[in-house]
Amino acid sequence: MEEMEEMANGVTGFREHERAERLAELRPAPRSRKEVVLTKLGTPCSPSWEPEWIEAVEDMEEELGRRCCGAHAPDERPCTLESKVKNGRCRFHGGGLGVGAPKGNSNARIHGLYARRIQQCGAHCPQWKTCPYAGDDVKALPEAKRPHCIYEREEMDALRKLDESAHEMYKPLEDRTTRDLNKPPYPMYAQLLMLRENLHILQVMVTRAAKALSTQGFTTQSVQQSDSYYAAYEKPSALLVAHQMLTREHRLTLSLYSTFLDKWDVPKYARP
Ligand SMILES: [Zn+2]
Repeated sequence: MEEMEEMANGVTGFREHERAERLAELRPAPRSRKEVVLTKLGTPCSPSWEPEWIEAVEDMEEELGRRCCGAHAPDERPCTLESKVKNGRCRFHGGGLGVGAPKGNSNARIHGLYARRIQQCGAHCPQWKTCPYAGDDVKALPEAKRPHCIYEREEMDALRKLDESAHEMYKPLEDRTTRDLNKPPYPMYAQLLMLRENLHILQVMVTRAAKALSTQGFTTQSVQQSDSYYAAYEKPSALLVAHQMLTREHRLTLSLYSTFLDKWDVPKYARP
């Protein structure tokens, strides 16, 4: 009889314990707003920042004599732009768009069109006059500190996501003894990844050139003259030539890439 009672109590005790544990699991973890770390000058730190980075931001703020965004700038140091919103970040790093039209008014150049990397924000951009992210604060930054273009970054990320999800199952295996030329892991997998990355950046560059073309025009007036000869004619603009060269390179890279994919029967796009 006593044994039975003990057993019953034991079971009940276990159940209560289990129930309490499950409830604790279901309950969302308390998130206190007080836990946001501030720098010495009061800039809210991102939860992803390591203590060493917060120190670097504080050093930067001391150097500047004011608060700054503090996110990772292209020069691997804290971003020095000022924030206009509560979370402390500038408009390039999650602080939303600043207000007011940009005052900069510089001529668009083809500089940067052939840069095989994501463009940094700056007055060299053909969209500078109309871009909502442009501003005198960016213009005043040294080149190494100018944030990456939001639009190019987004396009690059979207392209990467598209191909990476398609190729997820084709990642090289650890066990090299299973290597078969016709089965995963494929030979030259590193080369395939390089081609793919090159394809992505070329796509971004084609978009960049096309955007520049939309503001600049397709032809340039040219004049040839001598004492006895005068001819004015229109020739393709430098931007149009750049666009043609980039689309050509994109096509060549794509055909090479497709050869790889066909040979190994790798799916070209993620299947929904
Ligand atoms: Zn920033």
